[in-house]
Amino acid sequence: MKLSNRISGITGGGADGWSVYYRARAMKAAGIRIIQLTMGEHDIGTDQSILDAMHRSASGGNTGYALVVGNNDLRTAVAERIASQTGVLTTAENVIILPGGQAALFAAHHAVCDPGDTALFIDPYYATYPGTIRAVGAVPRAVHVSADNGFQPQYDALNAAAKDARSLLINSPNNPTGAVYTRETFDDIATVCQDHDLWLISDEVYDTQVWEGEHLSPRALPGMTERTLVVNSLSKSHAMTGSRVGWICGPVDAIHAIHNLATHNTYGVAGFIQDAAVFALAQGSAAEEAVAAPFRRRRQIVLDALAGQNAIRAAPISGAMYAMLDIRATGMTGEAFANELLDKEHIGVMPGESFGSGGAGHIRIAMTVDDDRLQEALGRICTFAAAHMD
Ligand code: PLP
Repeated sequence: MKLSNRISGITGGGADGWSVYYRARAMKAAGIRIIQLTMGEHDIGTDQSILDAMHRSASGGNTGYALVVGNNDLRTAVAERIASQTGVLTTAENVIILPGGQAALFAAHHAVCDPGDTALFIDPYYATYPGTIRAVGAVPRAVHVSADNGFQPQYDALNAAAKDARSLLINSPNNPTGAVYTRETFDDIATVCQDHDLWLISDEVYDTQVWEGEHLSPRALPGMTERTLVVNSLSKSHAMTGSRVGWICGPVDAIHAIHNLATHNTYGVAGFIQDAAVFALAQGSAAEEAVAAPFRRRRQIVLDALAGQNAIRAAPISGAMYAMLDIRATGMTGEAFANELLDKEHIGVMPGESFGSGGAGHIRIAMTVDDDRLQEALGRICTFAAAHMD
């Protein structure tokens, strides 16, 4: 039987950079020692105290249907965190709890795009972005950013792409580039959104991982609160990737509409997960800093390892758990570099091209292995690159 065009068309066909990742996994399964720098997931698990809170809640009987929009104490905790970080008046009514940032990205686009509408996203991009836009029936349009501008979106490109568009999806701190958008960039984004009457969908899942500059939430900019949906989760901030708990913060009428969508889709997030999330947020910023600390340390390891050689340049690693490495001096594409590195050095990295054409000539490493292995891998990557210099 034929499936719908919408579901068949979520991902475009053809080759993708994930083949390096799958090859690396297969080699590892075959017993080869591989250093995997591909995946954006912490090398620590969820803290035991959060798991204890989850267990207490579940074994205390909180295993039935939870409120679809989210439990009031979690919505309130999220609203208070956002209000204290941004200064924008935010209440539980502005927040819906969803099963992770990815579900929130889908719901946000579903809420603002009609079938056939154009939805903008920034290239290089997080792997699911264009597919999420297609999954709601909208048409993705890329706005390219370049390493030469530190991967910051530029006003002219945004403005040119915005004609007839309905929404703009941004992500700062950024996966895969490690860019943290500056105030000037956010001002340009706000201007374009207002001039072209766009919704802004701001993916802030890396908001606790800022190494340079500061995290700004564009919902706080003048004229933006009513047109911004903020997507966030506890996946990255609290090493809770598997718990699937996140949220959208936005105008109350948008939250009501997304509540209705959730009623017909996910039907809420498990109550014991929500209780664990309340506990996690109550630990405050010290707990968030502890989860982020290994990446802050490893960023320095990357910078030190790259100092004093000229085969590889790092894009500014201002935030998130990734480093984009410019390997253009080798004359290789990111894809060729990543494939040969896997075959010869048994190190798995993502080709920049797998994040869009803006990532060409780069590889992305995830700083998600222990410090010693990261240091070893970087030394070998630098030697490998030097041997390929033109
Ligand atoms: N947005 C970005 C930029 C990501 O990198 C990820 C996960 O890697 C997500 C969203 C999805 O996160 P979650 O685990 O909250 O669904």
